Amino acid sequence: MKIKNYINGEFVNSISNNWLDNYNPSLGEVYGEIPNSDSKDVEKAYQAAVKAFSKWSNTTLEERSIILSNIANLILEKLDDLASAESKDNGKPVSLAMQVDIPRAASNFQFFANAITQFASESHESVGLDAVNFTLRQPLGVVGCISPWNLPLYLFTWKIAPAIAAGNCVVAKPSEVTPMTAFLLGKICNEAGLPNGVLNIVHGLGTTTGQAIVEHPYIKAISFTGGTKTGAHIARIAAPMFKKLSLELGGKNPNIIFSDCDYNKMLETTVRSSFANQGQICLCGSRILVEESIFEKFKKDFVQKVSQLKVGNPSEKSTDIGALVSQQHLEKVKSYIDIAEQEGGKILYGGNRVEVMNCKNGYYLQPTIIEVSNNNCKLNQEEIFGPVVTIMSFKTDEEALWLANDVKYGLSSTIWTNNLNRTMQFSKQLQTGIVWVNTWMLRDLRTPFGGAKESGVGREGGLEALCFFTEPKNVCIKYN
Ligand code: NDP
Repeated sequence: MKIKNYINGEFVNSISNNWLDNYNPSLGEVYGEIPNSDSKDVEKAYQAAVKAFSKWSNTTLEERSIILSNIANLILEKLDDLASAESKDNGKPVSLAMQVDIPRAASNFQFFANAITQFASESHESVGLDAVNFTLRQPLGVVGCISPWNLPLYLFTWKIAPAIAAGNCVVAKPSEVTPMTAFLLGKICNEAGLPNGVLNIVHGLGTTTGQAIVEHPYIKAISFTGGTKTGAHIARIAAPMFKKLSLELGGKNPNIIFSDCDYNKMLETTVRSSFANQGQICLCGSRILVEESIFEKFKKDFVQKVSQLKVGNPSEKSTDIGALVSQQHLEKVKSYIDIAEQEGGKILYGGNRVEVMNCKNGYYLQPTIIEVSNNNCKLNQEEIFGPVVTIMSFKTDEEALWLANDVKYGLSSTIWTNNLNRTMQFSKQLQTGIVWVNTWMLRDLRTPFGGAKESGVGREGGLEALCFFTEPKNVCIKYN
């Protein structure tokens, strides 16, 4: 199967006609090819986008909203096909793609279809000066959206939907490792009546295609989700060009468990927050911190629950844990498990590759739990981004807070407690962009989403996204 670039509403090969292999991680086999695009293809996409901009930015909000809703509805109509495609391309269980990835991609479009009709701007009367100010929020022009492989269509659409809702035209690049659902989205956009050139999707390597988007002199903003190192590299290029930048980066999120919590609910959610999507979610609680009085009980119960998870072929509905996304990523994750003992850690469960029947070359790994005693170890400081969690105990609230904040990342945190004062103290003092209390990954799309510290700059979601994708202009009118 040959995936093509989506430029000006058409499906085209890269200009160089070079191709890259696309893998099915559950089998460890190549199953298709994608265009190995370069800066010429990005230029072609930019030209299509800039040509579409004046008409699209003057399209009424109602029309834009209808088209975005059409896209949302078509995604839901094609739920089964999109979920299978996502599972095959990424290795995630098809059940997860059916329940989370694809419905959320539809919600992204539906949410911004509605939000744009409610997007108001401020006005300020300058009393005594006979003047009135109002704020015009105008689309930026052509913007770049670059997304990672872990939640492919979910994160791709999380950027594209607000960008086009606000009247921009887009040049977008999905991860080269998971291009399939982005390709299918192009077809859906045509069917939904999105005018040609409003969305352009260019496939290829981050270091060539992605970099060409970032370096393009007239692409006005970059919305990027991916690793912290890549984010820093992008910032170094884009900042001196004065581009607007939204960077959603890595995490090393604490999951803080107090003895006064609802234990069963916590245990069930902690299994999910540790291993959903093979632990490849930036929001996964990869550092579990447990109050000393329940530490031994928690360890026993957690290991027992995790041992029941089925690692298997992602296309089977009973599978809990599918394949990791690539051989390279599997090796990276495994390298952390290999240094666990050297770092003073103790593997309580897992740690090994799994051979799945009829999928013997797939990239499977057991869910892995490692007990550590020192927060300075690599396992607790570096983002592993796989089915590996560490656990350690704490004695006091102060110690828990210190451990939680003692990393360079600051994306999300979870606390399990029924104590209101503690909830408020932790909510105020945790250095993360998101704090979940007695839950995990419960998302309301109106809320600001993003990280503190090295987890990113800027916020997405709700009005924040519409503000990012528009330029506020102050208009001051003097009257007599
Ligand atoms: P990468 O940073 O490797 O890649 C992200 C995207 O950027 C991909 O499309 C990649 O292309 C592209 N890219 C790579 N290099 C460049 C470059 N020089 N210029 C422009 N684009 C480039 O991240 P991963 O795909 O490995 O994703 C995992 C990371 O994403 C984790 O760190 C995770 O925490 C983070 N993440 C953060 C989230 C958040 O909301 N904060 C949510 C989800 C993930 P290609 O794949 O082709 O190399």
